[in-house]
Amino acid sequence: MGLEKLAKAANGGAIKRPSDGKEIKKVVFVQCAGQRSDKEGHLNYCSGHCCSTSIKQAMYFRDQNPDIETTILFTDLRTPGAPGEDFYRSGQEKGVTFRKGVVSDVSPAGASLKVKFKDLILNEDISEDADLVVLATGQVANAGVDIDVVKQDEPGEWKVNADSILNMNYRQGKDLPHLKHGFNDSHFICFPYETRRTGIYTCGPVRRPMDIPQAIEDATGATLKAIQSMENAQLGRAAHPRSGDLSYPSFRKEGCTQCKRCTVECPFGAIDEDERRFPVFNESRCRRCGTCMGACPVRVISFENYSVDTVGQQLKAVDIPDEFSEKPRILVLACENDAYPALDMAAMQGFQYSAFTRVIPVRCLGSVNTIWITDALNSGYDGAVLMGCQKGENYQCHFVKGSELAHVRMSKIDDTLKTLNLEPERVATYEVAITDIKRAPELINDMAATIERVGMSPFKF
Ligand code: SF4
Ligand code: SF4
Repeated sequence: MGLEKLAKAANGGAIKRPSDGKEIKKVVFVQCAGQRSDKEGHLNYCSGHCCSTSIKQAMYFRDQNPDIETTILFTDLRTPGAPGEDFYRSGQEKGVTFRKGVVSDVSPAGASLKVKFKDLILNEDISEDADLVVLATGQVANAGVDIDVVKQDEPGEWKVNADSILNMNYRQGKDLPHLKHGFNDSHFICFPYETRRTGIYTCGPVRRPMDIPQAIEDATGATLKAIQSMENAQLGRAAHPRSGDLSYPSFRKEGCTQCKRCTVECPFGAIDEDERRFPVFNESRCRRCGTCMGACPVRVISFENYSVDTVGQQLKAVDIPDEFSEKPRILVLACENDAYPALDMAAMQGFQYSAFTRVIPVRCLGSVNTIWITDALNSGYDGAVLMGCQKGENYQCHFVKGSELAHVRMSKIDDTLKTLNLEPERVATYEVAITDIKRAPELINDMAATIERVGMSPFKF
């Protein structure tokens, strides 16, 4: 931004140094200045446009006067977006020097500056004089990057202590939940435009650092998503990720204990409370993940096509051989988004896992009600494996915190196992990515080996 101002002031003429108005003959650009680094006060992400911006600005100098020496010091040159590699080549053709190096110091040297760096190609310590040094300091969100003003509410969810321009009517707050650095998406890989507030789509540097050409393309993506969302809403269907699902949660009011677990755990703020503290489901916000169903301790929440009972019936429908037949039963509850396709691909690629396994897909690990596990173990299953997406700061859960919540719930199941007099190793919860094609069957085989070691369940009939 600083250099843009100097170039504008020059109005096509020579760019002058701001400190003393001297004409610049030698300029050094330092890429990733305080970026892609875990040091305190640095940004640990790539801003995705500064390499292209520095190339563009280096060309300002070369265009104005081809005798000006321009050097770009980089560790990894990245030119994403429309111009890409060609833009880098235009810089080369205009005589911009690119050096792969890590800067260790910039200090005054008379009327100039001295830039010390390690050249990573030559493996040599080098210093270069410059009239001007331009630091690519990176792009930050206009709210929230300063961690001091951000409060972490839930794992992976940050609240910015700033006035919201959105002024939304959510019990969780007026603004969108933010990621750690103040940007806000709900799933970086699969749903880049979706926020955690259904019907609100972000694009451009609101969702991640980028330049204008990337933001234009991004806006197209977000607009298409918004169109899909409106069409689905008109037909009463869910938006992503269960796009087209016509079901929505209902609850049996007379059984509800007003515990608020569903209201608090819904990742999308879809549940409010009425004046008597009963949950009020907001269908247009709901993404049909079933997290509320998994949370409800008295199991009064269900969908027409997915409920505690429908999965319970699938569990019960499995034939359980008696304890003398040496045929254990392993229950696998696999998230339909990543773990289940990983198991599917494992089968297609011929990776084998214990034939004593019965796999039931679930909408999200967050929808798993602990009653399924206790019922399964009570009815003679020998072990249970739960497979969900990556949780935590860099979560991959399609429903943001379903996997995280499932891990918390399952960490408390040990007490239940103790009351049943069962070994805690009989239940295991894992984070499984869609690419874990080899690992997912291994996790099941690990459980088969555990059962062989601890023995068959005493609950067989
Ligand atoms: S299904 Fe998911 S999004 Fe819908 S109300 Fe329940 S927890 Fe919230
Ligand atoms: S979790 Fe179940 S019992 Fe608790 S408020 Fe929600 S519906 Fe009622």
